[in-house]
Amino acid sequence: MGAVISYIKSLALGELFKGLSVTARHLVTRKITVQYPEEKAPQSPRFRGLHALRRYPNGEERCIACKLCEAVCPAAAITIESEPRADGTRRTTRYEIDLLKCIYCGFCEESCPVDSIVETRHYEYFGEQRSDLLMTKDRLLAHGDRCEAQIAADRAEDAPYR
Ligand code: SF4
Ligand code: SF4
Repeated sequence: MGAVISYIKSLALGELFKGLSVTARHLVTRKITVQYPEEKAPQSPRFRGLHALRRYPNGEERCIACKLCEAVCPAAAITIESEPRADGTRRTTRYEIDLLKCIYCGFCEESCPVDSIVETRHYEYFGEQRSDLLMTKDRLLAHGDRCEAQIAADRAEDAPYR
C-alpha cells in the first residue's frame, strides 16, 4: 500500500513543488550574503588580526624587551634579541613574528606589561613568498603607526571590561 501511495505522490510531482516553494520563499526574503570585499561583516573590537608594535605618543617604542610574549607564545612564533642602550634601558634589536607559525591566540598581547605588542583588526594581508609573512620589527612598528588611532579607540571602548 505504501508503495502505491509513494508512486501516486511521485506522479503528482509533490517533492518538486515542495522544493520550488522553498526557492520561491527565499526569493522574497532579505539576503544575508555579504558581498565581500565591497561589504564587510561587523567586527569585534577584540578581533585578533595582524600584529603591531605600539609606540608612546612621544615616538618611543613601548617594548622593553622583557620577552614575556616570546616565552608565552605556544607556537614559538616570536623571536626577540635585545641589548641595553647607553641610557641603561633595554630595547629589542630584533623582534620577529612568523605568521606561518602564529595561531592568533592573543597570548602575546595579554602577557605584555606595557601594551606594546597587539593584534590589530587588520586581516586583509597575504604573502607570495615566505619572507612576506615574517613580520620584522620595522614592519610591526610601521603597522602600529598606521593603526594607532584605531587601537587607542578600541582600548577606550574596551576599558570597562579590562
Ligand atoms: S597570537 Fe599567539 S601564536 Fe601568535 S604570536 Fe601571539 S602568542 Fe604566538
Ligand atoms: S612586546 Fe611586551 S611582552 Fe613582548 S618583549 Fe616587548 S614588552 Fe615584553
